[in-house]
Amino acid sequence: MKIRIRVETEFGWGETRSHDLGTVERDSIGASDEDFGLSLAEGKSLLTEIQRVLLQDQVEEISEVSRVCRFCGSYLAVHDRRERHIDTLFGRITVAVPRVRMCMCGLPGHPELMAAYSPLTRVLRNRATPELQRLQAELAARHSFREAARLLNMLTPCARQNHMTIRNRLASVADCLAVDLDELGASTNVSGDRDISVFLDSAYVRSRPEYQRRNFEVVVGAVEDGTGTKRRFGLSLSGTDQPLACMRTNLAAAGWREGDQITVLSDGDPALPRLVRSAIDADVNHILNWWHISIRIRHVETTFQTLLSCLESSEADEIVPLVQNLRWRVWHGQTGRALEALKALFRVGMQIRKTSVGTRREAAFSVVSRAMELRTYLEYNRSAVVNYARRRQQGRAVSTCRAEGLVNDIANTRMGKKQRMRWSPRGAHRVATVRAAVLDGRLSAGRLEAA
Ligand SMILES: [Zn+2]
Repeated sequence: MKIRIRVETEFGWGETRSHDLGTVERDSIGASDEDFGLSLAEGKSLLTEIQRVLLQDQVEEISEVSRVCRFCGSYLAVHDRRERHIDTLFGRITVAVPRVRMCMCGLPGHPELMAAYSPLTRVLRNRATPELQRLQAELAARHSFREAARLLNMLTPCARQNHMTIRNRLASVADCLAVDLDELGASTNVSGDRDISVFLDSAYVRSRPEYQRRNFEVVVGAVEDGTGTKRRFGLSLSGTDQPLACMRTNLAAAGWREGDQITVLSDGDPALPRLVRSAIDADVNHILNWWHISIRIRHVETTFQTLLSCLESSEADEIVPLVQNLRWRVWHGQTGRALEALKALFRVGMQIRKTSVGTRREAAFSVVSRAMELRTYLEYNRSAVVNYARRRQQGRAVSTCRAEGLVNDIANTRMGKKQRMRWSPRGAHRVATVRAAVLDGRLSAGRLEAA
């Protein structure tokens, strides 16, 4: 059998035009599984043909409509036709774009203005369709540039991609996102009184050798404005010319206005709240992210369980209360009492260690070192440890179980140490920017100009 595929265009002025796109032939007598339905190759070539017809007819109608002078209504001549190549998801299509002569009605006596123009410059400003650009950028943010190119080549009939085309596209999309942000930052200066929470963390990305260092830092974050909307972002301090402006515009995009109080929730690193403080040029409230404390408490608790199994019940009675209430105390802001319990735990643990051998000795040592770690952490960050229970009761942010997720999602999955690739700070900044936009679903909504 032979299946003919034909497309019919009906122009706005009533004319119809049909295009034969090709035929699909199938042998019914010796049919095998492979013969059923369209193959990927056939599908790709058909899509390209449909795209070609669609684009050319669209160009035709748009040009025809703009051939009528808006002022005097006369029908203008086509000066010439020029070829234009348009990159789409369904192939690189060449269309003949007519250039229309300007009407002289409004400008008598200015023969030098008798030029021709292309009506399409208004709509198709870029060489590539926004959809293709978004897909290239999204794949580049999720996979290596080579893998992104391979996926596009395998699944779509778009023009041949390689790692360089993908990398350049990611760069241009990231720059567009930054421009959008700048406009947004400039347009919002209304003072507010919202409670904005910023979760911050950082990841280290392997540096390319020419930058004379092993790693550099990528700051990742999420902003919540209390109404449940969340915006993720990522930035490399050395990868952008204005990291503070970048931070500020990200905050503004998430709903922060001058006058809003910001709470920064982060790990102990004082550089992160300082970054926000400098960006908004105002003080911020810094508290330790509960998630980071909670993990360290868990370390104490699990090593303690191991030790407990090696202890006599009389020994256990002395030591159990020290750990039992630890989590509760820190959660309720009783840092002083928690520190005392840790001190006691340290002392008892050391004693057991001195008087024991084998697994008992090792278990005691683990508990002691974990207790020490938590104690140092709490002491060092004491001013940032608050009453989390009360905060939670007030409906305010205390933690994100996705704190680690944030680092993985925005930085490590694509640029972590397990990936073999090395990065320039600017490249990493761009990937982090686009990845955050992809995760928030912002890439599909935004328009991409001036690629
Ligand atoms: Zn006219």
